[in-house]
Amino acid sequence: MPGAETKSVTIVGAGQAGLQVVLSLRRRGFSGRITLLGDENHLPYQRPPLSKAFLKGELEERRLYFKPATFYPDQGIDLHRSASVTRIDRSKRVVVTGNGREFGYDRLVLATGATPLRIPLPGSNRDGVCVLRGIDDAMALREFLLRDGRLVVVGGGYIGLEVASAARQLGRDVSVIERLPRVMSRVTSPVVSDFYLDLHRRHGVDIRLGETITGILGDDRVIGVRLGSGAELAATTVLVGVGVQPNQQIAAEAGLRCDNGILVDDGLRTSDPSIYAAGDCARRVFPDGHTLRLESVHGARDHGERIAANLAGDAVVPDDPPWFWSDQYDVKLQTAGLSTGFAELQVRGDPGTGHFSVLYFLNQELTAVDAVNDPSTFMAVKQLLKKQIRVTANEVRDPKLELKALLPATTQRKATQ
Ligand code: FAD
Repeated sequence: MPGAETKSVTIVGAGQAGLQVVLSLRRRGFSGRITLLGDENHLPYQRPPLSKAFLKGELEERRLYFKPATFYPDQGIDLHRSASVTRIDRSKRVVVTGNGREFGYDRLVLATGATPLRIPLPGSNRDGVCVLRGIDDAMALREFLLRDGRLVVVGGGYIGLEVASAARQLGRDVSVIERLPRVMSRVTSPVVSDFYLDLHRRHGVDIRLGETITGILGDDRVIGVRLGSGAELAATTVLVGVGVQPNQQIAAEAGLRCDNGILVDDGLRTSDPSIYAAGDCARRVFPDGHTLRLESVHGARDHGERIAANLAGDAVVPDDPPWFWSDQYDVKLQTAGLSTGFAELQVRGDPGTGHFSVLYFLNQELTAVDAVNDPSTFMAVKQLLKKQIRVTANEVRDPKLELKALLPATTQRKATQ
């Protein structure tokens, strides 16, 4: 039984997934040594507000922290900040930090997250060109946004659009440059993309689709960007939000199998059974061969919980459908399940009212929902997916049908909460 033999767990990466491993291990009664190594100088913190309330100055930094500083010694957690792990020595079962310190492990968890991609353009190191992943990035971006000026966002995905929304609410002029013909195209359907395009345009954002950026103008500081069409746009700040790459370098160098993420099995084990990987850095390989790397709070928490259950020798945690949210202006998008490759969709409600949901089907079966200001549909679909209740497109074609009616009676109360 893994729980009986595991005396010490070392976690590399003190973010959402790493912290979840810690919390779940202690909650499950694991009394062994826990070492948590993070390369940032901050206490472990949540990232979603960085592009939302924190960026707008509506949330203090300490409110981002998962736990106060006293929590870690109180719980017997050996937390090391500014501790960047540069090497894993699997034969000695130690990890080594940049300053040469070694930390041993019985079981190791890699929860190293991801790094924003940058665009390799001349001028992209100019002052005022930002990415957004951590508190320090958010503080730098906020400082730029609080000055008078113009923001150009490169990339019309979740992060870029959330920043565009926050910047408009701070009174900045904003342009969004998106290479593809619609926003959020990697994660949602044209119905939802069109809604968000319209939402941002109504709030005064200049969104340019099918457009690229070819240069960043200025001397030390950015003063503008050049577009593929040849046009130039003035900018005092440029946010590059074009996706992330998983932090897998130390894993790959230690010989663990990686392929756009550290490959893990159903139990989140890497190709070395004493090393696990969790969160944005992990790519799960399912028994049928398909793989999935999530970038979400839920994914990180779910991984952390599963690893802790495994290490504590508890029963396997059942699979939970992925879910995610995004806040832009006064609109909350909540998604559950995976819509990738959907064959059919149904729109419930009217996008024109700002409250609607899109249900996605594959092989006639409900696989996902995007709910826009529609929490009850989100909750109902999340529960249907979690309980693996098969729902066909035909069954829910009647717009008057309440989806929660398809749930067993005991779950219905939860779905309305
Ligand atoms: P992280 O939280 O990034 O933690 C990884 C940690 O490991 C970092 O602190 C990193 O510095 C550290 N690290 C990396 N390498 C090393 C090393 N070698 N040694 C030591 N430490 C190391 N998700 C949602 O579901 N909803 C949202 O609304 C949402 N909004 C977001 C907004 C922003 C601005 C960002 C950046 C993300 C958002 N996400 C959102 C995504 C979510 O925050 C991430 O999916 C989640 O944080 C992933 O957790 P993680 O532990 O894998 O990575």
